[in-house]
Amino acid sequence: MLAKTKLQVLVPRLSFTRQLSVTRISLNTKQHTQIPPINTNISSQSKSNSNRSTWTSAALFLFGSLVGASYVSYKVAGNPPSFLFPQSSITPLNEVIPPQYGDPTEAIAEITKLLGPEKVTNTKSDLDQHSDTYWSTHHATASQRPDLVVFPETTEEVSQVLKICHKFKVPVVPFTGGTSLEGHFIPTRQGICVDLTRMQNIVKLHKDDLDVVVQSAVGWEDLRDYLDDYGLMFGPDPGPGACIGGMIGTSCSGTNAARYGTMRENVLGLTVVLADGTIIKTKQRPRKSSAGYNLTGLFIGSEGTLAWNCR
Ligand SMILES: Cc1cc2nc3c(=O)[nH]c(=O)nc-3n(C[C@H](O)[C@H](O)[C@H](O)COP(=O)(O)OP(=O)(O)OC[C@H]3O[C@@H](n4cnc5c(N)ncnc54)[C@H](O)[C@@H]3O)c2cc1C
Repeated sequence: MLAKTKLQVLVPRLSFTRQLSVTRISLNTKQHTQIPPINTNISSQSKSNSNRSTWTSAALFLFGSLVGASYVSYKVAGNPPSFLFPQSSITPLNEVIPPQYGDPTEAIAEITKLLGPEKVTNTKSDLDQHSDTYWSTHHATASQRPDLVVFPETTEEVSQVLKICHKFKVPVVPFTGGTSLEGHFIPTRQGICVDLTRMQNIVKLHKDDLDVVVQSAVGWEDLRDYLDDYGLMFGPDPGPGACIGGMIGTSCSGTNAARYGTMRENVLGLTVVLADGTIIKTKQRPRKSSAGYNLTGLFIGSEGTLAWNCR
């Protein structure tokens, strides 16, 4: 056992000594070589030539890589591939993939259960009335009828209805006064018409601040009569029977527009419901505010395609 242990210790010592001696020898040889023999000279010259050509190739390769990389990054920055991000911020209509709609049967069942039978209808006269109007310059075809008309009474109910329609991919159209003239509310994809006419409360008048909070189906004539008692007035005056919701939807004008502006100049802020049922408030009442995106302005005139105003 002892002998074995000694041997194990000795072996590394031996190899260490050998390494040292080899090193020493090679150092000595270099120091003492004043004039190398001819043969050695030739081989070292060819060695240095080959070294030089290796370096030249490496430098060329590096330079080529740099030029190539710069060119590729220039190309990518100037014309980025579509998998990185879209080519432009505007997609032409003919390149847009049309939405795929779902079967409305299940949505109708869920909405009827949610609102109760007194807030839904599918009688022929109701479906016709929510598809077309005598005044319109465009008329609905026989098949352009909604499958159901629903009458929510609160913003929360509108949100619930939209959540269900979003879940089943059912097309929806909002409706208030029905006086718009260019086929605005024709249900070209059928689906569900959401009639907001039961939301017709004047919520609060702030006389000193010269603003009033109203629901979507307050008619402009009713608002005019109400404000008259306070010595106030509301400017926009479109077709008889038009309501605030649709007036915001179309950004209507009227005979007073030249003096008092269109709907766009008269709306301070909105409570809207988005397509997936999310409720958002675009702004508080104070006029002295400049914060953030002008979402109010974005939604006014969007004809129910971006959001539905409820208040
Ligand atoms: C005789 C006559 C005169 C008219 N004169 C004028 C005029 O001078 N100036 C003018 O601008 N217009 C005028 N109009 C057109 C019409 O009155 C306006 O377009 C009015 O703004 C429509 O309001 P409404 O409540 O009837 O909306 P609707 O016809 O019910 O709906 C209009 C659009 O808004 C959408 N919508 C409805 N409710 C909402 C909501 N809550 N949120 C989001 N979108 C909604 C609908 O889907 C539709 O696309 C006139 C019409 C008639 C018949």
